Amino acid sequence: MSLVFGMSCASKRTEPLLPGQRGADRTEQIRASLDSSRPRNVILLIGDGMADSEIAMARNYYVGAAGHLNLDNLPLAGDITTYAVEEEDPNVPDYVPDSASTATAWSTGRKTSDRRIGTSALTDKPLQNIIELAQKKGLRVGNVTTADITDATPAGAAAHVSHRKCADPENMQNCPQYRKAAGGLGSIAEQLVDHKIDVLLGGGRETLGRKIDAGPHAGRTVIESAKLQGYRVAYDASELQSVTSLSGGPILGLFAEEHFTPEWRGDPARLYPCSGPQNCVTGQRPPQQPTLAAMTRKALELLENDAGFFVQIEGALIDRCAHSADPCGQIGATIDFDEAVAVAVSYAAARGDTLVIVTADHGHGSQVVDWLDDENHSPGLCTRLITREGAELRVVYASNVPPRIQQHTGVQVRVAAQGPRAANVLGLNDQTELFYIITSALGLQ
Ligand code: MG
Ligand code: ZN
Repeated sequence: MSLVFGMSCASKRTEPLLPGQRGADRTEQIRASLDSSRPRNVILLIGDGMADSEIAMARNYYVGAAGHLNLDNLPLAGDITTYAVEEEDPNVPDYVPDSASTATAWSTGRKTSDRRIGTSALTDKPLQNIIELAQKKGLRVGNVTTADITDATPAGAAAHVSHRKCADPENMQNCPQYRKAAGGLGSIAEQLVDHKIDVLLGGGRETLGRKIDAGPHAGRTVIESAKLQGYRVAYDASELQSVTSLSGGPILGLFAEEHFTPEWRGDPARLYPCSGPQNCVTGQRPPQQPTLAAMTRKALELLENDAGFFVQIEGALIDRCAHSADPCGQIGATIDFDEAVAVAVSYAAARGDTLVIVTADHGHGSQVVDWLDDENHSPGLCTRLITREGAELRVVYASNVPPRIQQHTGVQVRVAAQGPRAANVLGLNDQTELFYIITSALGLQ
């Protein structure tokens, strides 16, 4: 356990790819980052709940107000709108989405209602996703997360159910029509495995330990079913490291019972007077859980092939920690995600045939504020963080009444990209446009 505050800033700081030159014209530099050729591979990185406010918190804390995170250095960036639609009338917008409707949006190109995974609002029809299209064309596919792999974001990449809670065959109360015993595709866990996703990494040992209700693997757990379908299963970081190719079959990594443990810890925000002033403490993740960067590196190594690949990589704990007004957990999860971005960016930069897209699914309720004193403070939860550059960072969480969990927000989120076809993210697009950008770039349409 070491204090983050005591670490050197310089070693983590990266130079911006396109630094402002105090008036120097950057047109040629930007032109050099444009490439209209088709990428062989697409790496899509999702920071769950990571809008500009959450990025600013992590940047200020970790590299300083004048610093750049890795995700700040991609050459081309725009914004995406994230709204969902209402279940009863899909023509009516739901301005604040959840992780199920948003993952469905970029995975299928279609808006749906909150809690739905890869299915249409009202009509409950399965919507074809990028992973299915990529597999049809012979590309390898990967799905990597720091959540339980059945959580909404990784589920949205591949599965089709009417409710995100239908994670495993013993928890199908919200979507009985999808049970295998009812002739359906089964739970999210079953669908992820039945899809034979080449690299499927995250948490969920407990969830995938539940028993299948029908079909050829009835009575067996989802993990047993995965093994019968050729999967090799890794339960800790060192087992994952020892896998060096997919020739022995697809790889299923389950490194936590459910979600991963946040790497950073600190006092949660509280009603005024705030928690802190505090430094976050790091080193909290058990050694069997790999970093997102380590999972990303391994996924890219395993997925690389002549036909190309598509992989979705999620930093899930940004959102989970923001829900519980845990600023240190949230910032640490953002840095963990940002280090995975660095792995993807350097992989792509060395090859020139890989499109990297970094974005978020939706915003969260954390805010950086000016004052926290007796005269000026939020009625919500607050904390004072002492950043690594030694200044006070004041943060409030005021999107719900404690002890209820904090909520998402309806802001547009950044989308940044590098590599062939990256220019398509410029300006303001809707989240569903990501589906078309990716499938068109990979020639899947
Ligand atoms: Mg998520
Ligand atoms: Zn959330």
